[in-house]
Amino acid sequence: MSRVFNFSAGPAVLPEEVLRTAQAEMLEYGKSGMSVMEMSHRSKDFEEILFTAEKNLRTLMNIPENYKVLFLQGGGCTQFAMIPMNLMRHKSADYIVTGQWSKKAAQEAKIFGQVNIIASSEDRNYSYVPDMESVKVTPESDYVYICQNETVHGTTIRTLPDTNGKPLVADVSSMFLSEPVDVKNYGVIWGGVQKNVGPAGVTIVIIRDDLITDDVLPFTPTMMKYKTHADNNSLYNTPPCYNIYVCGLVFKWLLKLGGTEAIHKLNKEKASLLYDYLDGSRIFHGTVDKKDRSLMNVPFVTGSKELDAEFVAEAEKAGLRNIKGHRSVGGMRASLYNAMPIEGVKALVDFMADFERRH
Ligand SMILES: *Cc1c(COP(=O)(O)O)cnc(C)c1O
Repeated sequence: MSRVFNFSAGPAVLPEEVLRTAQAEMLEYGKSGMSVMEMSHRSKDFEEILFTAEKNLRTLMNIPENYKVLFLQGGGCTQFAMIPMNLMRHKSADYIVTGQWSKKAAQEAKIFGQVNIIASSEDRNYSYVPDMESVKVTPESDYVYICQNETVHGTTIRTLPDTNGKPLVADVSSMFLSEPVDVKNYGVIWGGVQKNVGPAGVTIVIIRDDLITDDVLPFTPTMMKYKTHADNNSLYNTPPCYNIYVCGLVFKWLLKLGGTEAIHKLNKEKASLLYDYLDGSRIFHGTVDKKDRSLMNVPFVTGSKELDAEFVAEAEKAGLRNIKGHRSVGGMRASLYNAMPIEGVKALVDFMADFERRH
């Protein structure tokens, strides 16, 4: 076996310890005589897995009592519709567009009502975050939407906008559990797990009680109502049992490591290694304004398409995988999620320095 350093933006690297536990429990979970994949979602064993996963997530994020935790399916893109269907009661919502994912969310919301783009960084290909302090919320809007970490463009919103009392809805898919957050600042904080938390197939939605109602848009299907899942503790229908189980293992791993504060410290250390190198490099350059750089997704370029391609090909051979940038930004992108060991970032920086010497 030879595991590589996987810099993929998602599905992404998982902690080796978690994979080993899953391997050890593959044929028989506990004393159940079967794999988690084969269990009824109504069984005692699975109920315990779900309950423990939620309990540990609540501990990790310090989630207040008046917030529900939902384990849903349909990926991040389903939330782009579920959010307006459930929250756009007056058919108007404010969107802050800082990259590909908030742009997609805004486009989807237009199916359901008026979308006000109250700030955007499209003018410079989403390479920065607009000044959040000058953002003005529309009086009649139902909520304010952000994607707090833009996975493709590599920006993070560090100062939340003042929503004037309206619920703030945040997509944190690619920074989930990467640093401490104050859940109270959000009406809905949600993420697809395949970036930083687990295997593709689960979307975790943390939503304030008062936003869960039957007062949704007409024609909203049962499965698309938050209330359906909240009333049934995410067991209205068969949930993605095995994927929830792996998320639960990741939560345990993170708790053992010291929680979000400990991982944040490590994440800052990893990101600094790469950014400091980029800032001193002759041939590689970061694409994002320094103040808005993501700790999780680091896009960079050489300025030459040929050189970028050469670098990506050589990196692949050296066991530094999935380093090619998204087509809309070009160049390279290194995703440094929680499970990426610091050794991986050191190996990348060493490789870049060596490449630089040779070019
Ligand atoms: C990957 C991603 C999504 C989309 O997730 P899918 O599960 O592929 O639908 C949405 N938002 C962000 C920030 C992402 O990184």
